[in-house]
Amino acid sequence: MRITAEHVIRFIETIAARVKEQRAYLTELDSAIGDADHGINLDRGFSAVLAKLPTVADKDIGTILKTTGMTLVSTVGGASGPLYGTAFLRASMALADRYEFNEDDLVAALEAALEGIMMRGKAQRGEKTMIDTIAPAIDALKTARSRDVDAHAALRESLAAAEAGMKSTIPMLATKGRASYLGERSIGHQDPGATSAYLIATVLVETVESIQPEAG
Ligand code: ADP
Ligand code: MG
Repeated sequence: MRITAEHVIRFIETIAARVKEQRAYLTELDSAIGDADHGINLDRGFSAVLAKLPTVADKDIGTILKTTGMTLVSTVGGASGPLYGTAFLRASMALADRYEFNEDDLVAALEAALEGIMMRGKAQRGEKTMIDTIAPAIDALKTARSRDVDAHAALRESLAAAEAGMKSTIPMLATKGRASYLGERSIGHQDPGATSAYLIATVLVETVESIQPEAG
């Protein structure tokens, strides 16, 4: 499979559209265990990214992802901006100077992104954050690929793991971010960042599924 710069642009544009659509829902989740701004934060960030995309549309994938990451870091006030921003910046380094990449590169870029989030937020799995969606999704993707299933099936398995990971945050006690201020009262609510991470994972899988298989 060849994932091109054009696909990456479409991926980011679709995230921006989906975040706008789900803005109220993400904010509502954040009103239960945070400060009711997660949807607003991400919509502000990805709207700013959308405005910048035309300036990098003909550039390499590393540059597109780097611009996205830097824009998120600089326009989102909440914790999620620097975290998602770092994820895009790390992915940009993994795909520097590239105009296309394959499934193996995708796994490497996702791993780099997760590592960046964990480093920046000093968080691990099980702390009721976006990591609880992303980490199991990458594990499932790698496991599926080691069984040699086709790329689309592997991504579907990964997305199912992302959804299970998102839902696994409901009974968790938050120990990082704003929700941790609530202590035990954070239990019983789905984490907003785990939810936006699932939304982004959905867009990634849809984008890759839309790519036509190579001829021959
Ligand atoms: P803020 O909490 O500053 O208002 P947002 O509401 O935009 O920022 O984002 C909150 C989300 O960020 C949480 O639901 C959680 O998933 C994620 N988050 C917060 N702190 C961390 C962290 N240290 N590591 C990973 N994710 C985190
Ligand atoms: Mg918030």
